[in-house]
Amino acid sequence: MPAAPLSAPLPATGRWALRAALGFDGRAALPGPVLVVVDGARIAAVDTTGAHPPTDLPVVDVGDAAVLPGLVDAHVHLAFDPQENAAALAGAPPDLLRARVRRNAARHLAAGVTTVRDLGDRDYLAVALRDEVRTADAPAPRILASGPPLTRVGGHCWFLGGEADGETALRAAVARRAAHGVDIIKIMATGGAITPGFGTHESQYDAAALAAVVDEAARHGLPVTAHAHGPAGIADALAAGVAGLEHVSFFTADGVAVDWPTVEAIAAAGVPVGATEAMLPEGEIRNPAVFAKLEQRGRNFVRMHAAGVPLVCCSDSGVVPRKPHGVLPYGVAHLGRLGLPATEALAAATSVAARACGIADEAGRLAPGLAADLLVVGGDPLADLDRLRDVRAVYRAGRHVTPTTADN
Ligand SMILES: [Zn+2]
Repeated sequence: MPAAPLSAPLPATGRWALRAALGFDGRAALPGPVLVVVDGARIAAVDTTGAHPPTDLPVVDVGDAAVLPGLVDAHVHLAFDPQENAAALAGAPPDLLRARVRRNAARHLAAGVTTVRDLGDRDYLAVALRDEVRTADAPAPRILASGPPLTRVGGHCWFLGGEADGETALRAAVARRAAHGVDIIKIMATGGAITPGFGTHESQYDAAALAAVVDEAARHGLPVTAHAHGPAGIADALAAGVAGLEHVSFFTADGVAVDWPTVEAIAAAGVPVGATEAMLPEGEIRNPAVFAKLEQRGRNFVRMHAAGVPLVCCSDSGVVPRKPHGVLPYGVAHLGRLGLPATEALAAATSVAARACGIADEAGRLAPGLAADLLVVGGDPLADLDRLRDVRAVYRAGRHVTPTTADN
């Protein structure tokens, strides 16, 4: 995926409009033509009447293209190089990681991902970039970040520096993250595929430990999301009151077995599930045993969605070679091929993802008052989700990131 410089062409300041043949507002198709009126960093109006805009309003006409909200990738790892073994992060020099985090954020933006939620960095580097780009004079994705995820000593992703065993250490670790200004607490409730030690199906923490983390986070006004592959870890995290669940694979020691009562409880609680489905269709497979189970997990996500679970399409960008930064559009198309209706697949990477990230009033929809985070793609993504990768233009807070067709 090509990296766009963070200092891409600018702006769109003041009041202007973007006209496209088609649109998707984050929840449903918009009948064209669609006129999105932008005022500075915000959407002022979304007009589908076909009426001519005021003659003094500059209009960018993108022609036979669709406008939709910039995508929201609710699960990325900006500090990870997908080509590198993740454990190398333990000894990576901070300057190298700082540059990488910045470069990877730009890659997401170039792919139309205008918001990323980093669920595991090292040294709070994604948190630092979040603060830096808030005032930077160049487009960058909106960043939310957890800092280093909480994990057992020697547990999943221990190399990020978030090891904490026992309730006292866990509460102290949560407080430390709050002091660093994180947006969310991430905990590894079970083992993970890229770290030996705990199996993916095995719980790293018991129910009491998870409850203590949720309690301590609440004291600091922070939500918690739990990485959970195994059935016990999923159920325990849900019972502890987490605001989000990542992966929800229902991996057992030797396969995949969905616990449907747990799924019903997730649906009843309205807890969003991060379906980390975005992946390049071809490439290296490092863990064939896990990979074999992923196809089944994908089909299960569609069944969970049908059972009422709020499904978020996300990537886990960075963790393996087939998950480069900016890979999210592949996940939307993949969920569509697995049977998720196109509007639902697109919603999973826009409005539903924004709600899961706690920014529903800021991003994920084309609606007046929200940030003017816009993605323009060639053709009709609702008819063919692969069109999402035909990026014609990206606007972040009303500012132009990539050339429009009109500029070409
Ligand atoms: Zn992850």
